[in-house]
Amino acid sequence: PRFRHDYLQVRDLRVVFDGFVAVDGVDLTVTQGDLRFLIGPNGAGKTTIVDAITGLAPAQGSVQFGGVELVGKASHRVARAGVGRTFQTASVFDGLTVLQNLDIAAGAARRARTLVRPRREVPPQVEQALDTIGLGHLRERPAGELAHGQKQWLEIGMLLVQDARLLLLDEPVAGMSHDERNETGRLLQRIGAERTVVVVEHDMDFLRSFAASVTVLHQGRVLSEGTVAEVQKDPQVIEVYLGS
Ligand code: ADP
Repeated sequence: PRFRHDYLQVRDLRVVFDGFVAVDGVDLTVTQGDLRFLIGPNGAGKTTIVDAITGLAPAQGSVQFGGVELVGKASHRVARAGVGRTFQTASVFDGLTVLQNLDIAAGAARRARTLVRPRREVPPQVEQALDTIGLGHLRERPAGELAHGQKQWLEIGMLLVQDARLLLLDEPVAGMSHDERNETGRLLQRIGAERTVVVVEHDMDFLRSFAASVTVLHQGRVLSEGTVAEVQKDPQVIEVYLGS
């Protein structure tokens, strides 16, 4: 493993919006190589936890990654600490090619001329990311012409080349076809073996094929935690899922 000492430690995280407690004392520990799913019905607080970790929601408590405290840091400083996230809608540059999107993410934007000048050599980390996300054959394709699933993979690739060591992915398989979901599952396993990965998901079915751990949230609190098989058997989880 490349980043053996990287782990996410969330302690007593609270997020309050105008008196409404969206996240209510959440503890979460995710170690490197542990692909973790955050699941729970709509409104459970999943996205708000990701927002709080990345400096986009008002957080109280403690969030440490790689020994660095993130609570109170602005989002660009959280990113600099090695934390990357995706949003439910992929944010890639539609007018640029796959390769250009990855170049920009890798910092080539600082040398803007590389975008105008035809480039002959591709940096190794970009080549590796293309391989990981399976888009090598589409490198010259404008991102705007990619299928929905491919855009999501590109966005993940952009986090990889930024050297994000903690990846927070918000419903990466939403709107994907069956095949795209399976492909994404394999991608998540590959990345999860190397880095610390937290995936927000609300569809329990998607998790069945994973040997991953799951944290189930409900009304801003941790309702259950364990393997997929364990949480699926938890009567409280069944009740919340049937009732939603
Ligand atoms: P999930 O991702 O599990 O569906 P969210 O984290 O999006 O849930 O939302 C948790 C709760 O917090 C919801 O009740 C939502 O309405 C509320 N919430 C989220 N963001 C805000 C905000 N910026 N202002 C006020 N309430 C919010």
